[in-house]
Amino acid sequence: MTSADVATSAGAARAADRSRFYLDGQWTEPLGGGVIPVENPYTERIIATVPAGSVRDVDRAVAAARAAATPWAATPPAVRAEHLARLADAVAARAEDLAATIGRELGAPQRVAAAVHVGMPLTVLRGIAETAARPPAEETVGNSLVVREPVGVVAAITPWNYPLHQVVAKVAPALAAGCPVVLKPSEVTPLTAYLFFDAVHEAGLPPGVLNLVVGTGPVVGEALAGHRDVDMVSFTGSTAVGARISHLAADRIARVALELGGKSANLVLADADLPAAVRAGVGKAFLNSGQTCTAWSRMLVDRSRYAEAVELAEQSARRFTLGDPVAPQTRLGPLVSAAQRDRVLGHVDRAVADGARLVIGGSDAEVPAQGHFVAPTVFADVDPDGALAQEEVFGPVLAIIPVADDAEAVAVANNSRYGLAGAVWSADAERALAVARSLRTGAVDVNGGAFNPAAPFGGYRQSGLGRELGAHGIAEFTEVKAIQR
Ligand code: NAD
Repeated sequence: MTSADVATSAGAARAADRSRFYLDGQWTEPLGGGVIPVENPYTERIIATVPAGSVRDVDRAVAAARAAATPWAATPPAVRAEHLARLADAVAARAEDLAATIGRELGAPQRVAAAVHVGMPLTVLRGIAETAARPPAEETVGNSLVVREPVGVVAAITPWNYPLHQVVAKVAPALAAGCPVVLKPSEVTPLTAYLFFDAVHEAGLPPGVLNLVVGTGPVVGEALAGHRDVDMVSFTGSTAVGARISHLAADRIARVALELGGKSANLVLADADLPAAVRAGVGKAFLNSGQTCTAWSRMLVDRSRYAEAVELAEQSARRFTLGDPVAPQTRLGPLVSAAQRDRVLGHVDRAVADGARLVIGGSDAEVPAQGHFVAPTVFADVDPDGALAQEEVFGPVLAIIPVADDAEAVAVANNSRYGLAGAVWSADAERALAVARSLRTGAVDVNGGAFNPAAPFGGYRQSGLGRELGAHGIAEFTEVKAIQR
């Protein structure tokens, strides 16, 4: 451990006991055995261990949530909203500690950790608290009163790439809707979840409303997804595991919400502001070292601007300085693990073998001696049907593809099994909107439209089922009842 690791480990351990789980409002000794090591992907050292939960730990957590379900559902929305606002304050009080922890267990550069990894979920949490305070009016349809009720006990299973945001995006709307939650965070980045539960404890949520069990996917994740007393599974992660979770939930017809992978396209039309479109496009492809489900990993450029765009992309990529996540000049941290780096380099080597033109980066580019780095990589002349354009890489690798016109741009963008995000750039707002409407994807940003925490978020096709965030995100955790009078 480095001295910085030790210093923050001590700070983070203040109240959250990282040898325990948070069940029924208390830090509780695990019933399982074994521990999971947590690595710092820059120093490549083990910085902590957390317990590996067992099926019995899951049973206890689900029982605590079940016991809390009726009273929490009966708690007035305004009171639930006050709890969420207190939770937001407790998270905000730990903002620095959270950013530092995300820097250490994920490798996120400090500026990105503070602004994106902590800033975004805080905005989401405050927004959900406000929305929860003003629930939508009950609807009258003919002689029916249509009401929404909490779906019941929710299992939330989250990935490592945004360790705080992914947790908040599930937990806050579920609680707002009146559902108790059992969270299983990624075992790769569990320290952020512990710090979040430190805030949960301080905020004084009623016992059993929010529970934490840490462990592996095959043990804790499967036990939760298949648990007969879990009413809904909300999962974010890979498409393969999402399919597995759907199978487990299907046996008892439990509800599922899935936020899965993506291969989002950034459409740069002939009349676009090219420097802005390419700069933003490269930034969105490389954000979080490309480990972002909404990464604009394909850039589709009108042939009339193509050569210029490739040159601009190279210049932008060059500015992504690799290095120690805590150094202020670092813009690109390491990937989360050696396995992830090797997977990404496999994609890069295959793209070269498939005939894509390597513009910058690649497997042989220079990277820091320590840390699981992949150099910022740009490919041009990428075959839209080839592996690089079709598979999610989850690393700092951008594929640029020339297109003849808007219609071809739309056809190439929609030539994907995914449909999570995307972008359109054009000087003509109507033209951009028409293209945005024809994309088969859950979100489109026009000319760099800003992140809206109240907007629904989710995927078409193999990018998922259901929507997170905002009022749609809260509604996802409800059942609809019609009362005829
Ligand atoms: P992953 O699917 O391997 O793991 C996600 C979570 O599922 C982890 O908590 C893991 O322990 C658990 N899990 C693994 N196997 C399981 C099983 N058999 N049963 C139940 N749970 C299991 O994904 P990851 O590697 O953590 O994250 C990367 C993937 O997540 C990428 O494909 C990325 O696109 C996707 N992702 C999607 C979104 C989105 O919102 N759409 C956001 C972030 C990441």
